[in-house]
Amino acid sequence: MTSHPLTFHAVVVGGGLVGKTAALALAQSGLRTALLAPQAAGLPPGAIFDSRIYALSSSSQTLLERLRVWQALDRSRLGPVFDMRVFGDAHAELHFSAFQASVPQLAWIVESTLIEQALDAALRFQPSLSWFEARAQGMTVEEDAAFVTLSSGETLQTDLIVGADGAHSWVRAQMGAKMERRDYRQTGVVANFKAERPHGETAYQWFRDTEIIALLPLPGDHVSLVWSARTQHADELIALDPAQLAAKVEEASQRTLGALECVTPAQGFPLGLQTVDRLVAPRVALVGDAAHLIHPLCGQGMNLGLRDVAALADVIVNKEAFRDLGDPILLRRYERARREDIQKLMIVTDGMQRLFSAPGTLARAIRNTGMAFVGAQPLAKRWLVSAALG
Ligand SMILES: Cc1cc2nc3c(=O)[nH]c(=O)nc-3n(C[C@H](O)[C@H](O)[C@H](O)COP(=O)(O)OP(=O)(O)OC[C@H]3O[C@@H](n4cnc5c(N)ncnc54)[C@H](O)[C@@H]3O)c2cc1C
Repeated sequence: MTSHPLTFHAVVVGGGLVGKTAALALAQSGLRTALLAPQAAGLPPGAIFDSRIYALSSSSQTLLERLRVWQALDRSRLGPVFDMRVFGDAHAELHFSAFQASVPQLAWIVESTLIEQALDAALRFQPSLSWFEARAQGMTVEEDAAFVTLSSGETLQTDLIVGADGAHSWVRAQMGAKMERRDYRQTGVVANFKAERPHGETAYQWFRDTEIIALLPLPGDHVSLVWSARTQHADELIALDPAQLAAKVEEASQRTLGALECVTPAQGFPLGLQTVDRLVAPRVALVGDAAHLIHPLCGQGMNLGLRDVAALADVIVNKEAFRDLGDPILLRRYERARREDIQKLMIVTDGMQRLFSAPGTLARAIRNTGMAFVGAQPLAKRWLVSAALG
């Protein structure tokens, strides 16, 4: 007896925040959607804050509001950013403020688990969503349908496969897209600290000795570190005990927030730039880090991935009735809609990364003069703020 595959309009492969948001957006549009992902793990016992946090821009907030996920987040755990102070490595300084930009806030600092748990709760209430806690192991694309085989043995038939499976995307490899990677030879070291002085809802960033240190405001007197450090230095930082790490961060941040106490263990994430020659193939679309990987110095990777989701959902919702979801014309609309935003952020983040990681006095003079110039030009500042606000 042959078993018939389960059939869906869309199968989302990958359960990072981008994949779960994509599955929710498609299911809320009434499409029969399958999600291949684990459930949210929650915080480890005793942890006060997740060490994975994201600076989310207004575009991400708007999408999550539309999906009624933002409203479910515990407000007391959201950290607004009203100001941003950036320090060069030769006394140059830049200040961005929500007040000057006439926006309620520059970004929200949100813990990964907080959003994931709210997404999981919303997904569980979706009658058109089927959740498989399995990985995709095989996929074939035919003219009328695509098929995904799961690690649990089931086969799913679908009109569209959404590859939301991250920087090492398996879906991307199966669809034959070419990916180019430039390794920054840096690791993003993340950890959370309790600060002696109030952060004043300000995000701080120091460019220092070819590395970048950011302290982002969490609720109350806590801050979250993202230190983009050379790989070997990052390994040394991660190996330190909490007090030694706090002392290093205090020194690198010029004791701006006074004494720091490390409250979550440090974790490291290798940093690179990845470009993909196409976002779509017959019956396949890539979203999130599967489609693009950028340096976190502007805190934009997740925002970019969530904008992919918004664009894909828009194209699908507004499609002509005679087209199915895997129609190449439809998928090309999605690709065209995303090209400019992705390219712009790749150029900005890669350019800044190169400028600030170049050693030598000439490079230092150029970057600090550039910062002073931007600081004195309201138009240039406004452009940077609007790029960061998404
Ligand atoms: C240090 C650091 C700080 C950052 N800070 C910010 C920030 O402040 N703001 C911001 O916007 N962005 C930030 N980013 C970027 C952001 O983390 C990423 O862009 C985002 O997490 C990508 O999400 P994703 O869902 O696309 O991929 P991932 O989170 O990588 O999820 C992919 C998922 O797919 C699963 N998967 C893989 N293969 C399969 C398979 N075959 N079958 C099923 N599942 C599979 C994986 O297990 C994983 O769960 C930061 C990045 C770093 C490194």
